[in-house]
Amino acid sequence: MPVHEEAIARPAGIRLWDVAPQNGFALALHGGAGGLIEELSSEGTDAFEEGLAIAHAAGRAILERGGHALDAVCATVEQLENHRLFNAGRGAALTALGGVEHDASVMDGSGEAGAIAASRHAKNPVYVARSVMEKSPHLFLVSPSKEMVIDWGHETAEQEYFITEPRQRQLARIQASQLVAPRHGTVGAVARDSHGRVAAATSTGGMVNQQLGRVGDTPIIGAGNYARNEFAAISCTGEGEAFIRGVVAYDIVARMRYLGSELPEAVAATIETELTANHSSGGLVSVGGDGRVVVAHNSPRMFAAFEDENGLVLLT
Ligand code: ASP
Repeated sequence: MPVHEEAIARPAGIRLWDVAPQNGFALALHGGAGGLIEELSSEGTDAFEEGLAIAHAAGRAILERGGHALDAVCATVEQLENHRLFNAGRGAALTALGGVEHDASVMDGSGEAGAIAASRHAKNPVYVARSVMEKSPHLFLVSPSKEMVIDWGHETAEQEYFITEPRQRQLARIQASQLVAPRHGTVGAVARDSHGRVAAATSTGGMVNQQLGRVGDTPIIGAGNYARNEFAAISCTGEGEAFIRGVVAYDIVARMRYLGSELPEAVAATIETELTANHSSGGLVSVGGDGRVVVAHNSPRMFAAFEDENGLVLLT
């Protein structure tokens, strides 16, 4: 029986994975908490698993050779943006007008961050967010121009590249119905490298049928994305408005910082108080400054990948 996203978006109990530090480095990624969309459910979960595994391998290869956590999360998210099944880059959710507007952010555990919203020209929004951090005096840029994307050395793409047929069918079905259930996706990654640095990157097409100009939590530092070397890196997915109200990513770090909570307890408490208690759903991947990985969601599903002592774990 095909899984319908509308049927799975309601908040459920929290599911949480807690993996002790290993290897000296760690990587966890998510491909959204929305589950399969009806128009893509015929693909089964194999294609999603393959996409998650490719993205994990891209980031892991960087960490394995002693690379930077920020490079690893960007390389991971780039793969997910290029994959047509995930809600980011190509294959992203469509706005009410049938186009694509991307939001993305990156944060390095040192405290530097960059973000973009309503991006229409960048093939890989995650790298433009990184360029805002590294090449501009700003942190958050709305609607980056095509010229700027090119100036910063990134590939551009036309709307036709981002818009896929299943997403068009999804938009038509949702616009024709009276559905009020949240429909979400988003991709993201967190990493801790062998030098003890953490980083987070998150990228999305937002919510299906969203108004032009609507911005969710993904590019908002502290809401959908956050990283601090001493504490943790967190990348979120779910109902953006709830993540913004609850300042979810930073709330987890604040619990560690001011209450002395361990990462798993902080994650569980934040999901419970800021999402479940408000009837909102979603999930997140996180890595502690010590390399501990915590993956959790209160949505009935979440696409994710991380390693435990037995190897790669794929959640679909
Ligand atoms: N959080 C994203 C947004 O609200 C959507 C998602 O994660 O599915 O734009």
